[in-house]
Amino acid sequence: MRLLIFGKQGAGKGTQAVRLAEHFSIPHISTGDMFRSAVREGTEFGRRAKEFMDAGELVPDSVVLGMVRERLARPDAEHGFLLDGFPRTLPQAHGLREVVGEDGLDRVIELAVPTEAVVERISGRRVCADCGATYHVTAPPRQGWGHCDQCGGSQVVQRDDDNELAVRRRLAIYERETAPLADYYADGNLLARVDGVGDPDEVFVRILTAVGGRTSS
Ligand SMILES: [Zn+2]
Repeated sequence: MRLLIFGKQGAGKGTQAVRLAEHFSIPHISTGDMFRSAVREGTEFGRRAKEFMDAGELVPDSVVLGMVRERLARPDAEHGFLLDGFPRTLPQAHGLREVVGEDGLDRVIELAVPTEAVVERISGRRVCADCGATYHVTAPPRQGWGHCDQCGGSQVVQRDDDNELAVRRRLAIYERETAPLADYYADGNLLARVDGVGDPDEVFVRILTAVGGRTSS
């Protein structure tokens, strides 16, 4: 099963990706992890990426695609994979098609959640500064904001990145750069648009149904 998943930040993509990869016994290839391991292991494209990052520059698509190619060539990806966080733009999607070939993907999952729902989800998020445990304004720690459930820490705060304005700015970039992937993959009959609102277990069943996997296990 060769899958790709995309969706707005805060749509619950990370959680579903982990479950999907486990369900199909395929590696979950998230862009961040791929970057870190390519740089750490000093692969050809990992070294090139590091040069750009050290210079404070954006890593060009050609280098990112090189890392994807390296990663997909590994034995664990031989019988499938789940790409998460890549491609993020149409040019990257074109590049990916060159790497994996015309029939290189079985299904592309768009996890669809309305903008207002993710704004509420992210801007209401609060994080323990000591241990990283996350809460929501609607679900505070049991003993109140001054006492983290996990570590007892007193600093449960909103991250700078999570303020509403920053969230809306990132969502606007998503609409402009990433949302067009839906039409691109719909043209190739690969797109499975899944409603990401609701209980994560229910969303997971929807995804499995959409990709044609078994829903019994
Ligand atoms: Zn804590």
